[in-house]
Amino acid sequence: MIRVGVMGACGKMGQMVCRTVADAGDLRLAAAIDRSRIGQSIGPLIGHPKLDVPVTEELDRLLEAEVEVAVDFTHPGVVMDNVRWCVMHAINVVVGTTGLTDEDLEQIRALIDAEGGESNVIVAPNFALGAVLMQRFAAMAAPFFPAVEIIELHHDQKADAPSGTALATARRLVEARGTAYHGPDGETLEGVRGGDLEGVRVHSVRLPGLVAHQEVILGGQGQTLTIRHDSTDRSSFMPGVLMAIRAVPRRPGLTVGLDPLLDLPPLP
Ligand code: NAD
Repeated sequence: MIRVGVMGACGKMGQMVCRTVADAGDLRLAAAIDRSRIGQSIGPLIGHPKLDVPVTEELDRLLEAEVEVAVDFTHPGVVMDNVRWCVMHAINVVVGTTGLTDEDLEQIRALIDAEGGESNVIVAPNFALGAVLMQRFAAMAAPFFPAVEIIELHHDQKADAPSGTALATARRLVEARGTAYHGPDGETLEGVRGGDLEGVRVHSVRLPGLVAHQEVILGGQGQTLTIRHDSTDRSSFMPGVLMAIRAVPRRPGLTVGLDPLLDLPPLP
């Protein structure tokens, strides 16, 4: 039985993670951390009225509850503090919060080493298996098309733009192609061509009614190839979150993305 603590337990993702953990036979929801609903039990909120796990803001609760894996779905502004705290207290972490930079990932690696490798961390900007495959298919297609643009679409409460998935996809496209892209960039309305990551134009749509969606449009002579993934419900992320919770205790160091946890064949 893995004892799990959820940071951001009362948020949209956090509640669903709490419910999924409480429903899993091999996991125990041992701690719920959030800055809202402090003192309330998380049980009734997630459809488990008998589960008495009080919500607290104090990370010390993770130690008292003997949490082995802490899951973070909070906010880009606090996630690094949470990860640092967990690594310094030898607690494994699964990070779903997006917005981490390459420097943040380097910091996590260095901290794990400095603390003697007593905790492991998995950071995944997208836990939906379909989104992992979308990125992979895009990387497979990249060498065959001279141009590509990414349109990512999310609900209007999302704190960061572009999405972590769009950034990761853009990097993988450039890596698969071997060089940066060069496309037209003239605009008469500022920003209309989107952000530019090594020549990959990234467009972020934020609207109520959306969950998490992404299109990768590759362009070539007389043809385009569109690869699209839609998370129409947050439950799409749960199989990946469960996979990461179960895997993190036995994956030393920092793991970025879900790919290493899936038994995928090497890219051609
Ligand atoms: P949300 O705003 O609904 O929930 C965030 C929760 O964190 C809130 O309950 C808030 O009170 C809590 N929180 C914020 N700061 C805190 C602090 N300092 N201490 C304690 N609690 C704090 O957001 P959400 O939609 O659940 O998304 C959370 C994060 O997960 C975002 O970064 C989002 O982009 C990311 N996300 C990732 C995936 C993925 O597959 N990796 C999927 C969906 C969302």
